Amino acid sequence: MQDVAIQLPDKVRDVIGRLTGAGFEAYAVGGCVRDSILGRTPEDWDITTSASPSEVKGLFSKTIDTGIQHGTVTVMCGGEGFEVTTYRIDGEYKDKRHPKEVVFTSNLLEDLKRRDFTINAMAYNAQEGLVDVFGGLSDLQEGRIRCVGSPQARFTEDALRMLRAVRFAAQLGFAIEEETEQAITPLAGNLRDISAERIQAELVKLLVSAHPEEMRTVYETGMSQVFLPEFDRMMETPQNNCHHIYNVGDHTLVALQNIPCDKILRLTMLLHDVAKPECQVMDGDGIYHFYGHPAKGAVMAGQILRRLKFDNDTIDRVASLVACHDELPTLREAPVRRAIHRIGLRQFPDLFAVKRADALAKSPHRQEEKLAYIDKFERMYQEIMDRQQCLTREDLAVTGKDLIRIGIEPGKKMGELLEYLLQCVLECPEQNTPEQLIRLAEQKRDGNALA
Ligand code: ATP
Ligand code: MG
Repeated sequence: MQDVAIQLPDKVRDVIGRLTGAGFEAYAVGGCVRDSILGRTPEDWDITTSASPSEVKGLFSKTIDTGIQHGTVTVMCGGEGFEVTTYRIDGEYKDKRHPKEVVFTSNLLEDLKRRDFTINAMAYNAQEGLVDVFGGLSDLQEGRIRCVGSPQARFTEDALRMLRAVRFAAQLGFAIEEETEQAITPLAGNLRDISAERIQAELVKLLVSAHPEEMRTVYETGMSQVFLPEFDRMMETPQNNCHHIYNVGDHTLVALQNIPCDKILRLTMLLHDVAKPECQVMDGDGIYHFYGHPAKGAVMAGQILRRLKFDNDTIDRVASLVACHDELPTLREAPVRRAIHRIGLRQFPDLFAVKRADALAKSPHRQEEKLAYIDKFERMYQEIMDRQQCLTREDLAVTGKDLIRIGIEPGKKMGELLEYLLQCVLECPEQNTPEQLIRLAEQKRDGNALA
C-alpha cells in the first residue's frame, strides 16, 4: 500500500461504496489510476470488483451488459456509464490475441497480473489506498513502460501489447524499459494476427499523442514492417536535393511534430510523402526529384487507410489533403480562387496547417520565403471567404433551371456550361449576376463567347 491520495469523482466513489457496502471488494483500476497520479484527466473510470456480474447487476437499478462474457457490466449513474468488471484471470491465449477462456477470481492480485504494463496495473479505493504490486508507481515517477511479468510471455499472449507499449511511451513521454523493448523485435511478426481495427486504434492514439515521432520506434522495432511497410520504405529513401536535410521518413517525423494533434492532420502528415519512394528519379547532376508524388500518394494513402479499416470520411479527407499538399497557386486573386475551387473547399483551412508542417520539416533553404508564401495564401483565402465570393457552382447567381429557360438541355452540355460560367466568375466575381451570367450563357450557346 502506498501513500497516494486520488480524488475519485463522486459517482465513482458511490459505485465503489455500493459494492463494498454489500461486502465485495471494488477499486478504480488501470488507466484512470495511472492518469490521476500523473495529474492528467482520465478518459473514463474503470472499476474492478470481486462481485460477479450478476451480483453487480443486482446492486444497481440501471445496468447494461456491455461485455458480460468477459465480466463487464456498465453501471449507469446519473446519465454516466461506468464499466464494472469482475476480477478475472485470462486463460491460455490460443491465437496471440484472444484468451481462450476467462476465469473469474476473488483475488485482486490475479486481476492485476493479467494487465499489460506496471503503470496500468494499479488499483485504488479510498479505504485501501493505492494497490501497487508491480512497482507501477515508481515506473510512473521515473517515466518507464514495463511489462507486468516477462515481456516475452506477455507479448506472445497478445501481440497488440507491443504497439501499446510505444503508444503509451508516445502519450506520456516515457521510455520503454530495456527488456520490454528488446522483447519486441523477435515477436513483431505476430502483429500479423492482430485485427486491423485494433492496430488502427493504437496507431491513431500514438499519432495524436504529444510524441508522434515515436513512429520511429515502431519502425526500429520492426513493427511497421508488418502493418505499414510503406513507412519503412520512407525511412529508407534519401532525398538528395536542396529542399531537404532529412530522408523521407525523418522528414515525415518532423512534419508530424509540427502539426496540431488532430487525427486527420496527423494521418495526412504521416502519408503526405508516402509515394516518394516510388516516384524517386535522379537527374544528371545526381539530384533527386519526386514528380507526381502527391497524386500517387493520394491513391496509396487511400489503399493503406482502407487496409487499416479506417472509415470512408477519414480516408477521403486524408487522401484529398495528400493530393493537394504541394499545390502552389500564383498569389493573385483569380488564380487563388481557381485553386480553391480546384482543390475543393473542404481541404481548407487544413491545407495551410499541412503546408506549414511540411515546410518546417524541410531544409533552411528559402524556408522563410516558403512560410511567407503560405501566410499570404492563407490571408488571400480568408479575404475571399470574408467577402463570400463565389467559389462553387452552388454559389452561381443562376442554376440549371435558368439555363433550361434559354434552351439548354440538362445533361453533359449543361454541366460544361455551368463550369464555364463558374470559371468566368472565378476570374471576375462582378459577373456573378443573373443578367450577366445569362448573357454569357447565351453567347457561349451561340458559339461566340470571348473565352
Ligand atoms: P486509455 O483508455 O487512456 O487509452 P487505458 O490504460 O485505459 O488507456 P484501455 O485500452 O482503455 O487503456 O484499457 C484499460 C486497462 O485494461 C489498461 O489500463 C490495462 O490495465 C488493461 N488492458 C487493456 N488492454 C490490454 C491488453 N491488451 N493486455 C493486457 N491488459 C490490457
Ligand atoms: Mg481506457
